Amino acid sequence: MEILEQEVRYLKGVGEARAKALNRLGIYSVRDLLNHFPRAYEDRTRFFTIRDAPTEEAVCIRAYVTAPPVLTVVRGGKRLVKLRAADESGSVDIAYFNMPYIREQLHAGERYLFYGKLTGTPGGLRAMTNPDFEPESRAGERTGRILPRYPLRSGIGNRALMGYVRAALSAVGNGVPDALPPAVRETQGLAQARYAYENIHFPADLGALELARRRLIFEELFVLACAMGQLRGTRRSADGTAIPQRDPSEFYRTLPFAPTGAQKRAVAQAFADMADTRPMNRLVQGDVGSGKTLVATVCAWTVCAAGRQAAFMAPTEILAEQHLSTLRALTAPFGLRVEKLSGGMTAKEKRAVKDALRAGEIDILVGTHALLTADVSFAALSLVITDEQHRFGVQQRGALSAKGETPHVLVMSATPIPRTLALIIYGDLDVSVIDELPPGRQKVDTFAVDERYRSRLNGFIEKLVRQGRQVFVVCPKVEDDGTEAAPDAPKLKSATDHAAALRETFPALRIGCIHGRMKPKEKDAVMADVVAGTIDILVSTTVIEVGVDVPNAALMVVENAERFGLSQLHQLRGRVGRGMHKSWCILVSNAQGEDARARLDVLCSINDGFQISEADLRLRGPGDFFGSRQHGLPEMHIADLCGDMNVLQAAQTAAQALLRYDPTLSEPENAPLRAQVEHLLASAAGTLN
Ligand code: ADP
Ligand code: MG
Repeated sequence: MEILEQEVRYLKGVGEARAKALNRLGIYSVRDLLNHFPRAYEDRTRFFTIRDAPTEEAVCIRAYVTAPPVLTVVRGGKRLVKLRAADESGSVDIAYFNMPYIREQLHAGERYLFYGKLTGTPGGLRAMTNPDFEPESRAGERTGRILPRYPLRSGIGNRALMGYVRAALSAVGNGVPDALPPAVRETQGLAQARYAYENIHFPADLGALELARRRLIFEELFVLACAMGQLRGTRRSADGTAIPQRDPSEFYRTLPFAPTGAQKRAVAQAFADMADTRPMNRLVQGDVGSGKTLVATVCAWTVCAAGRQAAFMAPTEILAEQHLSTLRALTAPFGLRVEKLSGGMTAKEKRAVKDALRAGEIDILVGTHALLTADVSFAALSLVITDEQHRFGVQQRGALSAKGETPHVLVMSATPIPRTLALIIYGDLDVSVIDELPPGRQKVDTFAVDERYRSRLNGFIEKLVRQGRQVFVVCPKVEDDGTEAAPDAPKLKSATDHAAALRETFPALRIGCIHGRMKPKEKDAVMADVVAGTIDILVSTTVIEVGVDVPNAALMVVENAERFGLSQLHQLRGRVGRGMHKSWCILVSNAQGEDARARLDVLCSINDGFQISEADLRLRGPGDFFGSRQHGLPEMHIADLCGDMNVLQAAQTAAQALLRYDPTLSEPENAPLRAQVEHLLASAAGTLN
């Protein structure tokens, strides 16, 4: 056990300086080194004779050096070592550039194994440049096997890293603790820990590599599932407050529209959950504009009607402000008191709200993560709602939950999360899907255009504004800071500059600008003007990405659209088409290249958020999409939270079964697992609750 936690600098051959280089790779302990998995492998197991060697790929040949290597200096002062090697089938000319020392390492008449690509035609004149080699007497270290390729940083080479990993493996010996309980390992048909670590770094063959990978992926997900399961266990056993079910039509009657069937269903499910003392943990998933806010509001209303309080968390100040007014309007018929707590308020204002909250005078408190500060306390918190959950880490959710007596939790998200992943992140989370848009919604027509379209676009903007509509324009940057990415990359539009340009183009129109560097108060003021209709064109950064609801807005223009992820563009597009007006989304991009085009075309042809995030996943890869920033899970070493979905499912099931009979992992055979779980929780203390 101990050896795993030992610092790398004490490993044979590492030392102070190399340890620093390893630290830069995130490797501090022997455990880290063993968990620094190769990113690829080089298959050096295939041998050919010189005559038969293919030219497409690198292979091994076994040959003797026919005469002493010759060192020559070629044009530009480059030093070249030339030699000829032969086997029974033929000979090959070998050259090493700028490696003069090779001359001392290869000796005439001795046999070596060379690994590299051969040129020439089989049977004809053959040549090799800079092949890796080893004397036949030492065969098996660099040739005849599968070699790891590690993720590297400057200061440390692949070969050195291989040596350190070897040293780590031999230092640990058979002492790799097996985190998988024997029963789990056997039912899943998985390899033992020692075998897996050996073969993930230095696979005996491709079959062994596969066994090692399978085992390690399973282990990583299993430990994660156990950790999440344990966290959840604490929460689940706690008693919440049962909220008596009431008839939601009492609320619906006060609305200017009829709720959709999907909204009613989600409300009914949440009501049933909250009627229990076991805290609700429900995710409401619905595309942008599907009306999730109403569902949340009805839930808050029923909680308040039972004499309890609700907290409503939004990812941005702008959204918090908007929810405040929506909630106030919707709950007005019932006389609920809704207040907001945000970073932009004065100390005095904050104190007043906090006091009223503690006294139980406030029914619903809206805010951003400011609600999480330690000095905010509720009199009777029974429901925590978080909007656009993908912006919140698991950590924040946990912190807020800790404030009440295990409140019910309602999470709203427009980002579809694959079911199995949701299980790991949220554990026993139940899901309501709002798969129906309010009636009368029209499809937002989407077009991808380039600069040549500018004057027509301006004409279109003007026409819409004259018809009384409002326009959003989103830019990738706040202001021009002179830091262009690459000289040939398209210039990035900044919100402040573009707003100025539009003011020149449209002197008669009212143009506002909003971005993340403004003070919350300033942002609120601009948004209030937009909602009031006194701003025609709002130029902004992606601060308006989520949730902003201005039904009169009919056009969303995105500048440098190639800079945004597909799901993000879909969110931005969701800012329009929310009322009864026909709406458009124009994606402006001057990026050349088929990839950029293909991505934007997805938006033009697909309207369904789920399909778009699938396409996003395909085009960007899971790393970006489910970056740990978004889901709040610790970084995975080998498992891919999206790609290894089947394993995830199996690991989750196995973890649940294990935790059922040993919830605290205190059985002796589960001790190594418990250690791993604790290690994970400790190292992820910043990300997990
Ligand atoms: P999202 O799911 O994206 O958060 P919102 O809750 O902001 O969507 O709702 C989008 C818009 O649709 C709001 O203007 C809201 O008032 C309106 N809306 C919600 N439900 C309905 C409904 N059943 N019928 C008509 N309009 C609705
Ligand atoms: Mg919303």
